[in-house]
Amino acid sequence: MRALFSLKELYRDAVRTSDFEIAQVTNLQRQIAPLYALLSVSAASLAYTHRDLAPTSLTIAVPAVLIAACMIRSVRWLFAAREPAPSRIEARAKLRRTIFLAAFIAVAFLAWALALDQYGGPDQHGHVSMFIAMTVVACIFCLGYLPMAAMLVCGIVIGAFLIYSFARGSEVGMVVAVNIALVTLVILKVLRDSFAAFLRLELSQRDLAHKQSEAEVLIETNVALARTDPLTGLPNRRFFHDELERRLATAQSSFAVALVDLDGFKPVNDTYGHAQGDSLLKVISERLRDFGSDCTVARLGGDEFGILFNGDAGQAAKAGQRLCEIIKRPVPLTGATVVVGCSIGIAGYPQAAHNAQDLLDRADFALYHAKDHRRGGCVVFSSKLDGMIRSERAVESAFQIADLDRELAVAFQPVFSTRTHQVVAVEALARWTSPSIGVVSPERLIATSERAGMARRTTLKLFEKALAGAARLPAEIRLNFNLSAVDLADETTIAMILDELTLSPVDATRLVFEITENSLISDMTTTRRSLARLRAVGAKVALDDFGTGFSSLSSLHELPLDILKVDRSFAAQLADATGRRLVSAIRGLAETLSLRCVLEGIETEQQLVDATAAGFDYAQGYLLARPGSIEDVLETLRQLPKAA
Ligand code: C2E
Ligand code: MG
Ligand code: MG
Repeated sequence: MRALFSLKELYRDAVRTSDFEIAQVTNLQRQIAPLYALLSVSAASLAYTHRDLAPTSLTIAVPAVLIAACMIRSVRWLFAAREPAPSRIEARAKLRRTIFLAAFIAVAFLAWALALDQYGGPDQHGHVSMFIAMTVVACIFCLGYLPMAAMLVCGIVIGAFLIYSFARGSEVGMVVAVNIALVTLVILKVLRDSFAAFLRLELSQRDLAHKQSEAEVLIETNVALARTDPLTGLPNRRFFHDELERRLATAQSSFAVALVDLDGFKPVNDTYGHAQGDSLLKVISERLRDFGSDCTVARLGGDEFGILFNGDAGQAAKAGQRLCEIIKRPVPLTGATVVVGCSIGIAGYPQAAHNAQDLLDRADFALYHAKDHRRGGCVVFSSKLDGMIRSERAVESAFQIADLDRELAVAFQPVFSTRTHQVVAVEALARWTSPSIGVVSPERLIATSERAGMARRTTLKLFEKALAGAARLPAEIRLNFNLSAVDLADETTIAMILDELTLSPVDATRLVFEITENSLISDMTTTRRSLARLRAVGAKVALDDFGTGFSSLSSLHELPLDILKVDRSFAAQLADATGRRLVSAIRGLAETLSLRCVLEGIETEQQLVDATAAGFDYAQGYLLARPGSIEDVLETLRQLPKAA
């Protein structure tokens, strides 16, 4: 009983966890037809041995009906075998029907066989017993995949046969009935054990398959994770590289690699915190994802993204330009709305390069160029750009081996008071004359030193020379010194500047540090700290080239400033009335913020008159004095009429 119970449990498990019932039906389909054939042949032979002894209704009519029923069932099973596998529900219904029909057919055959047993002698009785025994054994084997049906048939047939034999009272008949019952019981036990083993095997295979599929899912998930950026859900750098390699391996037509770098992301991150920075990156990623269905977008790290465009570099540039506009749209964050831009560098295959690394390098060069010269725009790598990069590299190599002490110099350009016409300050301007490549502009020098990782050394050398020059000037003349964004973001540079100042005879209060709005694009927190440290020793801070940056007004309000240096493009605008009004408005703004105002780039008498009329405190420009050596400044001072 316990064995039966455990079989039931096993069966339930198998049915619950797998398509076991479908497998049962499929297996039965193969065995039911032979069973019916066997039954039909046995029935026919039994009818035959009773043909002259029993009534024709029992030897012809009933077996004909029974055999016909067997044939119909057999044909139905054979047809079913050709149809697609049944669903679970259909299979279950079919199994139930089979159990019911097996019981019904067993009863019908048994009743017929026992009815025949009323006729004939010992041979015929023996044949009936053999028919019953054979039917039972055949049922057990053919219904091996449906033990319920096999047991039911055996129960009905053997039970009824035992009762019948004992009721008949024939000793031989009783012994034969008991013998058949015992054999049936043993065969049933074998059937039960093999069915249980079959169920266990099925369950363990199912378990194995389940584990395998779980492992496969796990591996797939790991692979997906290794190729996805967790923050934005975009594919990551690894995926991008693999995809690029794949495209190169199968490339039939041109495509383009684009590198996208956000402009102004850092200040948002510094000002609003990393959580807001992350939200911003998610929004930008969403826009990139929606941008084009036929391109591959990935986050390469930080605020840098990669795109693979179908089509040539020209088409990619047009798409890139559209993308720049989309990225520029305001992004609402919690408590603030921010705007960031992006610069894009593009390299087209096969024009720019033939392998992945070169394509990426060239797209990177183009991006670099966009950042420097076309911020917020798109630059395609070309042979012209290649030439520029080569010359940049030549400058870089020359700088790396430069003797900074000998090759670097500082030019001083006086700044005048519009009221007293006296020199109030000199601006130190970097000069580099390389023995191999000649004179290099200060902007290029600074950019090269930063790229070469030599910004600190360069700034300190220039500062040392600037201080040496200023030390030769009267103490009331200030020294203006330009600091780049990189300088301000480097606390060691600031500390070393302050150390240099303490060693110099030039008083710290004579110093004016000029910064540009670009400084605000990089590390805002450190920049503020650097400015505070410089002001703490009595130095002043001037915002240089005012009016050329993109966040002018907000920087005015947010930074600790003393002086505003209005860009020389405004001096040129003084020629017309609108320009004059604009310059006056800027002057008024500076006054409201209690900032002293310098107008740069004064080249004509009229500009000087207009600048003075507009209320500028100071003026600087070629008209008044060109940048020169400290001797030139001393000469200028000598020639100036003494202040009243
Ligand atoms: P800046 O700080 O705005 O310096 C003024 C620039 O305008 C200088 O160019 C000067 O020669 C030029 N200039 C002065 N008056 C006139 C004028 O009337 N008309 C015209 N057209 N130009 C005038 P320079 O020396 O070529 O320097 C260019 C820029 O390089 C500077 O602009 C500054 O941003 C940067 N720079 C120069 N020296 C240094 C330095 O030591 N460190 C850093 N970080 N940047 C420096
Ligand atoms: Mg300057
Ligand atoms: Mg300037």
